[in-house]
Amino acid sequence: MRTIGLLGGMSWESTAEYYRLLNVLTRERLGGLHSAKCVLYSVDFAEIERLQAAGRWEEAGEVLAEAAKSLEAAGAELLLICTNTMHKVADQVAAATAVPLLHLADTTAEAVLTAGLGRVGLLGTAFTMEQDFYRDRLAAHGLEVLVPDAAGRAEVHRVIYEELCVGIVREESRAAYRQVIAGLVAAGAQGVVLGCTEIELLIGPEHSPVPVFATTSLHARAAVEAALRS
Ligand code: GLU
Repeated sequence: MRTIGLLGGMSWESTAEYYRLLNVLTRERLGGLHSAKCVLYSVDFAEIERLQAAGRWEEAGEVLAEAAKSLEAAGAELLLICTNTMHKVADQVAAATAVPLLHLADTTAEAVLTAGLGRVGLLGTAFTMEQDFYRDRLAAHGLEVLVPDAAGRAEVHRVIYEELCVGIVREESRAAYRQVIAGLVAAGAQGVVLGCTEIELLIGPEHSPVPVFATTSLHARAAVEAALRS
């Protein structure tokens, strides 16, 4: 099995889930006492969030690129950026090492296409919902991407940073997300991409009338499959 390198801590609430899933899925595949070979570089999310909010993406990318080099030096043979948002700097990170990067939007798009769907709603941070880097990557796979209206986007974004990234799961926020999902479905979404790695801590398939695509779970599963293929 190849060693998986995790660029995590964004936030650690979802990175902990990545770590758990990598191990659960490896045990499912190999049985017994098998667990995932992995190395984790966990950043201080406050520093990254400050750079995001200031639009200083190049600097944030540099932090992750340096972290990726550390992972490579520690033996990583496959790289995961454990956040959808920071895929904005995926090219910068990928260019810093020779380790192949498993892009979260590609993994997600493949799952949507496998489910036979073509038009999806996208929930995530404002950066992910409003900028091109993630939507375009999904669209490059032939998917049509819908995002919530401005009020919906603001609420989805707020809940991520003020609640989910600090370990708070509130019933009121779940209800708000369900309302946003209902709006996306009314607009024609056949499925909903939970395009932020913390959202699946709040929303599961039981909270949506259409299939949800949980990016942390999909990414972890794809990583284990890729690590075992080598
Ligand atoms: N984990 C989140 C994501 O998947 C948000 C935190 C971040 O901005 O990196 O986008």
